[in-house]
Amino acid sequence: MTKRQAVTNRIDQPPDQPSPPPCEACSGDGGTVVDTSSDGVTRESWKSCGSCHGTGTR
Ligand SMILES: [Zn+2]
Repeated sequence: MTKRQAVTNRIDQPPDQPSPPPCEACSGDGGTVVDTSSDGVTRESWKSCGSCHGTGTR
C-alpha cells in the first residue's frame, strides 16, 4: 500500500540539500497576502514579492 502525503510544511533547512538564501524582502515566502477588503467585503490577494519575483530566494 502506497500512501503519499503532500508536504505543505516549509522546510527551513534541508539536511543534505543546501538551499539558496531566502529573499530578505519576503523572508522566503515569495510574496505577501495583502488585504484588499472594501465595502464590507473581505478580500485577500497574493502579491508576489518584487525582489525575488515570487521565488522566495535571492
Ligand atoms: Zn522576495
